[in-house]
Amino acid sequence: MAPDLAAIAADRGIHYFLISFTDLFGAQRAKLVPASAIAGMQKNGAGFAGFAANFVLSPADPDLVAIPDPSTLIQLPWKPEVGWLASDLKMHGALIEQGPRNTLKRMVNRAKSAGFSVKTGVECEFFLLTPDGQRISDGHDDAPKACYDASALMRRYDVIAEICDAMQSLGWEPYQNDHEDANGQFEMNWIFDDALVTADRHVFFKFMARSIAEKHGLRATFMPKPFMHLTGTGCHAHVSLWDGETNVCFDAKDAMGLSKQGYHFVGGLINHADALCAFLNPVVNSYKRINAPRTVSGATWSPNSVTYSGDNRTHMIRVPGKGRFEMRLPDGAANPYLLQAALLAAGLDGIEQKIDPGKPLDINMYTDGHKVRDAKKLPLNLLDALRALDADRGLRNVIGEGLVAPYIQLKTAEWNAYCSHLSDWERTTTIDC
Ligand code: ADP
Ligand code: MG
Ligand code: MG
Ligand code: MG
Ligand code: MG
Repeated sequence: MAPDLAAIAADRGIHYFLISFTDLFGAQRAKLVPASAIAGMQKNGAGFAGFAANFVLSPADPDLVAIPDPSTLIQLPWKPEVGWLASDLKMHGALIEQGPRNTLKRMVNRAKSAGFSVKTGVECEFFLLTPDGQRISDGHDDAPKACYDASALMRRYDVIAEICDAMQSLGWEPYQNDHEDANGQFEMNWIFDDALVTADRHVFFKFMARSIAEKHGLRATFMPKPFMHLTGTGCHAHVSLWDGETNVCFDAKDAMGLSKQGYHFVGGLINHADALCAFLNPVVNSYKRINAPRTVSGATWSPNSVTYSGDNRTHMIRVPGKGRFEMRLPDGAANPYLLQAALLAAGLDGIEQKIDPGKPLDINMYTDGHKVRDAKKLPLNLLDALRALDADRGLRNVIGEGLVAPYIQLKTAEWNAYCSHLSDWERTTTIDC
């Protein structure tokens, strides 16, 4: 039987529940429900007007009903009287295909039918800015090589430690925090788990980092490239495949320590890379991070080609250790559920179709990439990626038309809105034409 949220509220002093869901664009939306009303909401769900969020729905549609998943309950570490809950979206009593969490669950079940579970870890990077979002909050954080800067890290100790303590108390097993490559940029790491658990935590992490930063008078952003001259904000995802307690991605006899299944999964990611960008690099700004010119630190640390390698950070996929690989493509704007769902879909297709990833490339892709003539480049902008997704029948079939079609529709509208914006650059370069 599902845990009784009303009883838990009484036991733990929860006054309110945040019944939350994530829309197609990854925004966190919620209703704040008093504990006195949670019993009914747990059974029947909280109602939302779906058209008001980023879904392809109409104002004439009935309620989008968010059914909270009690296993996801988190008491906000910075306000324990509030309990956060992820939820599954239903309409007319059935799960809607447009629901990002529903979609990830479909992919997890598909993997299960194929005989394995997928475990993932995400590396959340973010900037701490002034509240207006215009500048790095720490005026002294201006070294060209800012990565691992101990003093800049310690000047933000209050924020970072509060977030890390929170993860500790939630049992996520955080293990390191650092100042990242860009000025004002940080990364916090916790241990990997089942893809759905990681996605729920990823959603919550973004909400928590923003909330705690705000408490300290700062603004946390996951925007992929807030400053052109600085390294962008990635969200690398590490992946391994499990059958019970056995990592079936691992083969001790292989030079890179990957099994056949592991290589096929990588093959799927390589085969569908262009289309994957639509989910992993989902905003106009994403394409200023990938394919970027060198930043002031000397490297962008983000991929520009559809290639894989061993422990080499200049490729799209890196195999940092035996039995797992790292997809370096996703950025901070990716919807946490669709990030995982898209990776699973591409990887599962790779396994189902036995896709060969080709030979790994062991070169510095930043300096010598131009010498590899057949290395495929990544999409140059969001429209390219959306067109690639539109054309990728294989990936669409696995993810499901019910998710992909509305996603492309809304993202194309976003691209069109961007194109209707007249920029300063356009004016300056064209005024005297
Ligand atoms: P790096 O910066 O070297 O890429 P990090 O230590 O920042 O790596 O992040 C590594 C992430 O990968 C963490 O979330 C970690 O738990 C996860 N991870 C480690 N081993 C595995 C594995 N076998 N399967 C999936 N994720 C893993
Ligand atoms: Mg109303
Ligand atoms: Mg890292
Ligand atoms: Mg990093
Ligand atoms: Mg990494």
